[in-house]
Amino acid sequence: MTIRLLPPQLANQIAAGEVVERPASVIKELVENSLDAGATDIHIDVEKGGSKLLRVRDNGQGIAKDELTLALSRHATSKIHDFADLAHIVSLGFRGEALASISSVSRLTLTSRPASQDAAWQAMAEGRDMAVQIKPAAHPVGTSIEVLDLFFNTPARRRFLKSDKTEFSHIEELVKRLALSRDDVSWTLTHNGQLVRQLKAVTDDAGRQRRIQQLCGRSFAQSACYVESQYEQMQLSGWILPAAACSAQLQCQYSYVNGRMMRDKLLNHAIRQAYAEMLAPEALPAFVLYLQIDPEQVDVNVHPAKHEVRFHQARLVHDFVFSALSQMLTQTAQNDLLLAEQ
Ligand code: ADP
Ligand code: MG
Repeated sequence: MTIRLLPPQLANQIAAGEVVERPASVIKELVENSLDAGATDIHIDVEKGGSKLLRVRDNGQGIAKDELTLALSRHATSKIHDFADLAHIVSLGFRGEALASISSVSRLTLTSRPASQDAAWQAMAEGRDMAVQIKPAAHPVGTSIEVLDLFFNTPARRRFLKSDKTEFSHIEELVKRLALSRDDVSWTLTHNGQLVRQLKAVTDDAGRQRRIQQLCGRSFAQSACYVESQYEQMQLSGWILPAAACSAQLQCQYSYVNGRMMRDKLLNHAIRQAYAEMLAPEALPAFVLYLQIDPEQVDVNVHPAKHEVRFHQARLVHDFVFSALSQMLTQTAQNDLLLAEQ
């Protein structure tokens, strides 16, 4: 048996197995990069459910010409520098793997222009050794990443793709979750050249209410209560639907930790417990909640796709979320009762 170092493309393809499950996961990584780059306007174009084309264009800070190659390399990131940085991550990305992984299983083109450059440059990664070619291009300040023919060179993965419709529905749901995470950003989503969603950046409370309505529906927006609560270094804000308004049809469960979308067991448990027996048997809790917590108090380096976090003081976080929500829910239930009696 001989031990050999894997060629770069194969190493990247193995990493891609964890991060790039389907077209929607590519969009997640690209959009997170746009948000980390300070973008306020993000365009997402999809063709054939993403199996033909996925494109994300942003107006963020861009990538300098001499860093394009690095951006496509594995373990290359501008977001953390040393071990200490890992303990208080404020960006969405930090692993330096997404672009290398995606480009190893697709035909990826990266076009970018930082404000400091008069012109844009374009990079493409190709071949077994992932050699990058760079050429001049036209692009305003910001970055576009185009991903063609996802999984063209990993047929087993490509076969796992569902119909265009199903893959696009995953993308739509993802864009919804992303748009809920940042209402100060404008979002545009197209599929096969058709405009599917357009959301303008929010500037006031009326705009915020409108966005919640556009994304979560009228019945949620009309009945949801706004929550805001603080304890020590934690802050919880967002909307929660009174138990009486919850149903099995109204599916709206979105939670964010420091702006990162989550399906967190601990948060979900705290939320469920706050509703407890107030909820009818089949009804589902409905909420859009944002938890802000000292980055030192949460470990985001738990899962390659960064779906999970670990709280250092899990009990404290749980009890804080539980009591903030149960207070609100009990109060609205009592108010309803009073109204009913009048
Ligand atoms: P990570 O996000 O973990 O740093 P990625 O592979 O996703 O790793 O991206 C590598 C690097 O490329 C980032 O650290 C960033 O410097 C740069 N980059 C990627 N996308 C963009 C973008 N849309 N705008 C500006 N810089 C970007
Ligand atoms: Mg990234």
